[in-house]
Amino acid sequence: MFDDYDDPERLISRERRAEDSDEATLRPTRWAEYFGQVKAKENLQVFIEAARGRAEALDHVLLYGPPGLGKTTLAGIIANELGVNFRITTGPAIEKPGDLAAILTNLTNRDVLFIDEIHRLNRSVEEILYPAMEDYALDIMIGKGPSARSIRLDLPQFTLIGATTRAGLLTAPLRDRFGMINRLELYTPAEIGQILRRDAAILKIGIDAYGIDVIAGRSRGTPRIAIRLLKRMRDFAQVRGSGVIDRTIAEYGLNALEIDEVGLDATDRQLMRNMAEMFSGGPVGLDTLAACCNEDAVTIEDVYEPYLMQIGYLAKTPRGRVLTRLGWEHLGLSCPVDYEKKSKGTGNMANGNPIQLELDLTGETAGEEQEQDD
Ligand code: ADP
Repeated sequence: MFDDYDDPERLISRERRAEDSDEATLRPTRWAEYFGQVKAKENLQVFIEAARGRAEALDHVLLYGPPGLGKTTLAGIIANELGVNFRITTGPAIEKPGDLAAILTNLTNRDVLFIDEIHRLNRSVEEILYPAMEDYALDIMIGKGPSARSIRLDLPQFTLIGATTRAGLLTAPLRDRFGMINRLELYTPAEIGQILRRDAAILKIGIDAYGIDVIAGRSRGTPRIAIRLLKRMRDFAQVRGSGVIDRTIAEYGLNALEIDEVGLDATDRQLMRNMAEMFSGGPVGLDTLAACCNEDAVTIEDVYEPYLMQIGYLAKTPRGRVLTRLGWEHLGLSCPVDYEKKSKGTGNMANGNPIQLELDLTGETAGEEQEQDD
């Protein structure tokens, strides 16, 4: 269900695409090159120093947040700072309990094992992880039928770093076994600007401060998208400009790609337009909205909504999704009279503007919502 929830054809898709193959060259390996995520960084630095001081393995870490925000990068930096080996795998790649057992028994003391998309591990594999995480032990069954018996093998002390798009997708027993749970936030334009400056220097792309500002403002707070736009703008600068990405070229290129000044593409705008035209701005239930936009509900929830909510164009209320006054204005439409009154009681609108919304990436509250679907 989550395999294809982000349309890889979209230039602003957060999922890894073929053109991101040089990510490895750009991936920071030290704290100094890892911008933003201040809270997660500060805490991790303390825990890493403490673990190193005691010569113990770091406690298991869960990282969650939308794709492209730097989970893999952060895991690599943790291993680097700990001075240990870094092993990478993904949930769907581990098909059988034996596959995971082989990975675990090949680790050496204090190694970091990174499992991306950890919510996609199958149940029988996941169960191997419980004793491994808790007691550094592997329980294996020998024989079959009445003579079957379980033996316990010791594993090296290791650190598991799990990454997922939403912590709510994990089963409770697995989630409870992580000592640290860190949510990665969308980046501010200033932080994206720092990333762009560094990456442009590595890739030897000429860009001035205005060009950086324009791209940073349209990257949806996501480093992976920023890097992709930077590379596209290099092409525009080469063919249509002087080779340097300045404000004119960046604006020209992004407009040509239909990415507007806040980073929305045609698909986002269509979703908002549907809300305005079909539901007078809402509240509208997620499933109804999904059906009208010909999208599935998970795509809307994981891909479109987080950013639209972050910039205050859409609000999630107990009665469904609503387009905020800012959202109407962005579409160039006039917001209906008494719009706030209609949305009254939704709790997220003040004078038509959204109150700072807590970004719900965990999906934990989704089940509690009593949406009226029509
Ligand atoms: P995720 O694992 O969350 O999908 P990645 O760690 O693969 O994301 O990040 C995508 C790319 O974005 C990386 O290759 C890296 O170059 C860049 N990146 C991500 N976070 C940062 C950061 N905080 N500072 C600098 N570059 C970053």
